Amino acid sequence: MKTKKTQLSISSSLYEVIDEPPPFSVPSERLQKLTEPSLELNYTGFAVSDNSLSFRDRNFPGVSLAEWTDWKWQIRNSYTSFNKLEKIINLSEDEKGFKEQSLNLPIRITPYYASLLDADDSLQPLRKTMVPVLNELVVSPGEESDPLGEEHDSPVPLIVHRYPDRALFLVTGFCSAFCRYCTRSHMVSKKDKMHSRTSEIDNAIDYIRQHPEIRDVIISGGDPLTLEDSRLEYILSGLRAIEHVEFIRIGTKVPAVLPMRITPALVQMIKKYHPVFMSLHFTHPSELTPETREACNRLADAGIPLGSQTVLMEGINNSVEVYKKLTHELLKVRVRPYYLYQCDPIPGSAHFRTKVEDGLKIIRGLRGFTSGYAIPQFVIDAPKGGGKIPLLPDYVVGKENGDVVLRNYENKIFRYPDYT
Ligand code: SF4
Repeated sequence: MKTKKTQLSISSSLYEVIDEPPPFSVPSERLQKLTEPSLELNYTGFAVSDNSLSFRDRNFPGVSLAEWTDWKWQIRNSYTSFNKLEKIINLSEDEKGFKEQSLNLPIRITPYYASLLDADDSLQPLRKTMVPVLNELVVSPGEESDPLGEEHDSPVPLIVHRYPDRALFLVTGFCSAFCRYCTRSHMVSKKDKMHSRTSEIDNAIDYIRQHPEIRDVIISGGDPLTLEDSRLEYILSGLRAIEHVEFIRIGTKVPAVLPMRITPALVQMIKKYHPVFMSLHFTHPSELTPETREACNRLADAGIPLGSQTVLMEGINNSVEVYKKLTHELLKVRVRPYYLYQCDPIPGSAHFRTKVEDGLKIIRGLRGFTSGYAIPQFVIDAPKGGGKIPLLPDYVVGKENGDVVLRNYENKIFRYPDYT
């Protein structure tokens, strides 16, 4: 077995650091027809917590509430380098030991999310997910830049078509915050993937139109909610016009890292294209701030079914106590825990990855001890395109004399007569 670790060597010329949401140019006459939000809907009226306010006053003196709650201001003023970050946190030796140019994925943290980082504790869970450390440069055996083999299942640019009735539509390579464990770091922020062209979007929609077996489209990226409303509406309306597309899902981390993006205008627009579901990416209970609760409630009030996806990570959320707290907080804002993922083996991810047994312990610690709605499916997205494989603790002990022998959550053995 190969055990050799190597140093990641990346040229920063591969990626692009930008200050604005990446556009793709939709013909203006189509945009006007699609979106005409009223003045009232453009007003965000967003809740701002005391924590956010005090961070703003310390680090952005003179910035108004209207600016702070403007999602584009947040993107423009994001922390994109160690130089900026060291103004708000005391960098540890592990964090400052290298140049950001050597990173595969650049740094990007919204001011809002930065307000949640502990200035002194480099082991704080949220800080570990956003601030790079030296271990990120160490490539371990089995790690690959596209661990799910999505590029092999891409018949046309922007589309991954692996399962018969579903297609993944990767509409942008931009996110408002870059997670250090990102499965799609091979495309996120990369110069050739950041800006989708209108022709590529149109071709991808055409591909879906020509494949009547596709009934479920997952819009992902990057983060689709970093597109302007009009761009997102261009995509949603194009998909909704296809008769065999029964439902549409959007995958996003925006409610956790840029909650002010969930404006009344955005939810009004999305509502027009129901059924639209959302998979929200959450990592830790401390992400459930007043702002994020407001964002989730706005989405739920718009009739959007919400599920959460969480990557299991060492020292961040790999305990029953932390994960259970996260699921309880999510249910309070009508987000149903959906998937708990084993961390994908991207280059430089060994320090994040946990043993599979940790995930099984979490499921064992939830089943029977809390509401069934709080229990996600624990899955490994199998390397090289094997798809999601669910993992369960051993509740089935075996078969005996026509009975199934079962173990319950208290470790007691029961028999069920398995014949009819
Ligand atoms: S939000 Fe998702 S796609 Fe974007 S960096 Fe994080 S994990 Fe990757």
